[in-house]
Amino acid sequence: MAQRALIVGGSIGGLAAAALLDRAGWEVEVFERVEVELSGRGAGIVTHPPLMAALTAAGADTGDLGVISEYRVGFDGQGTEIARFAFPQLVTSWDCLQSRLRARVPASRYHLGHVLQSFSTEDGRVQARFANGHTAEGDVLIGADGFRSTVRQHLFPEVQPAYAGYVVWRGLVHEADLPAAVRDQVFDHFGFHLPEGDGEVIGYPIAGPENDLRPGHRRYNFVWYRVADPARLRDMLTDEAGVTHDLSIPPPLIRHEVLEGLKADGRRTLPASLSVMLDRAHALFFTPIYDLASPSMIGPCVALAGDSAYLARPHIGAGVTKACEDAVALARCLPGGVPVAEGLRAYEGARLAANRKAWARSRYMGEYLMPQYHDAAGKADWAAHHNLQTIMRDTAVLNFA
Ligand SMILES: Cc1cc2nc3c(=O)[nH]c(=O)nc-3n(C[C@H](O)[C@H](O)[C@H](O)COP(=O)(O)OP(=O)(O)OC[C@H]3O[C@@H](n4cnc5c(N)ncnc54)[C@H](O)[C@@H]3O)c2cc1C
Repeated sequence: MAQRALIVGGSIGGLAAAALLDRAGWEVEVFERVEVELSGRGAGIVTHPPLMAALTAAGADTGDLGVISEYRVGFDGQGTEIARFAFPQLVTSWDCLQSRLRARVPASRYHLGHVLQSFSTEDGRVQARFANGHTAEGDVLIGADGFRSTVRQHLFPEVQPAYAGYVVWRGLVHEADLPAAVRDQVFDHFGFHLPEGDGEVIGYPIAGPENDLRPGHRRYNFVWYRVADPARLRDMLTDEAGVTHDLSIPPPLIRHEVLEGLKADGRRTLPASLSVMLDRAHALFFTPIYDLASPSMIGPCVALAGDSAYLARPHIGAGVTKACEDAVALARCLPGGVPVAEGLRAYEGARLAANRKAWARSRYMGEYLMPQYHDAAGKADWAAHHNLQTIMRDTAVLNFA
């Protein structure tokens, strides 16, 4: 009889684990908290070769995955191009990856509306209990339930997300909505700008709705990292009804005043070509940046994968890639029939150091990107690293691994 894997979390990491373990001979069941099909609001995802390899191993369609940005281009405060080098990189979207992986998991094995509440292990079996009363039993439980992971909280309750002191705003601009001059200057490339004392703006082209890759129908993924002290973050997490949300706020609940404040700041601080982007962006939302690193990726009959184990800041553009690499390692270390404890130890051996490296690198990058020094010496050190060329070279690359 096939061994059974219970996978908590039906986003990219959970789907990749399900598709790959299914291929490795496991019977998989995916349990996703959200009740409706997931959507990533079109968020752009930079790809790396290991992600492509994982998708191929999972049997996912990798054709027409996104837009290739050929150059990295830097802009000064007036919007003048001041740096450029060739750096072809395929940029896709969260929705595209999710749907390609979702197609690799049998529909009958994917269960929406299942919130994991607790689990226990006995005699090499794991039993999971869900808020809707459902229970499930298996040989292994995979916690692919993101940085707030219930699975991790059971294993390592002391590990909590730590706010890094800044947020990232994201929004999408339809190519057709851009003035021709902005389109010609900015749209096709991976763009960078460092607003004086106000974080970093980056952006790149992604597919349009329904993965439309035709010129004129694509979108620009606009991204702005901005410092927000804890008091400011608390205010930003407070909705129109006065409810302050914990850790993050659902995008539709962000106050109008907060959104308008962002656009007004953009008009004041950004070069016209980028403030136009921001003004015309739709689906604007922000994500507070957190750090999180687990001391281990396994427990008895349990593995953590993706953001549940290690949350890397987005500067290395690798959260999805590393979640998929975790999934590849799980399937390789747990071939059908292997004793689970042995396979889990091999999994941790394969992935712990790599995840830790990615996490540490992303923190290092965040430190020299964002103006968060505490004294004059710190400011001088920060200023030495905070230059456009270095940032353009180091962003969303995996050459530190
Ligand atoms: C601004 C920004 C830009 C980024 N850019 C990139 C990029 O360019 N390239 C890249 O590779 N990565 C990027 N990332 C990172 C990437 O989005 C994440 O690392 C990745 O989506 C994590 O996937 P995951 O499946 O591990 O977790 P998640 O996507 O968080 O999924 C966890 C899932 O578990 C479910 N869940 C949670 N709790 C429970 C429960 N108790 N029971 C059942 N289900 C539960 C959730 O509903 C969710 O669907 C970026 C992130 C940010 C913030």
